Amino acid sequence: MTDTDCLFCRIVAGEIPSDKVAETDTVLAFRDINPAAPVHVLVIPKTHSPNITALAATHPDLIADMAAVAQTVADDECGGQYRWIFNTGPAAGQSVFHVHGHVIGGKDLGWSPA
Ligand code: 5GP
Ligand code: ZN
Repeated sequence: MTDTDCLFCRIVAGEIPSDKVAETDTVLAFRDINPAAPVHVLVIPKTHSPNITALAATHPDLIADMAAVAQTVADDECGGQYRWIFNTGPAAGQSVFHVHGHVIGGKDLGWSPA
């Protein structure tokens, strides 16, 4: 499914450019436009789903696909060690409602989750 009003669907479609770092049949990984760490890559399913819970309900297999791509990106860019973040809902900081996992790494990460 594609949502023509969705920023990340438009990136998948190539209508908006992105700095791609990995791609499979089902998943795209590209650099965050406003990086919070030396490695900050967004991993998304190519099909539209608003958040991780909705994706789990409809396409749980795609979460496994995303996890494999996240690990590949981290192996390539930050020694396989990373944080994978899913902001879910506006109060948690979600601003784009096409599910995406932030792969964060490339430095010693503190732990201040909230
Ligand atoms: P959220 O706040 O929904 O968890 O994460 C959305 C992320 O998308 C933010 O970190 C933001 O910097 C990133 N972002 C927003 N617009 C664009 C864009 O057009 N291109 C890329 N590559 N990242 C974007
Ligand atoms: Zn979308």
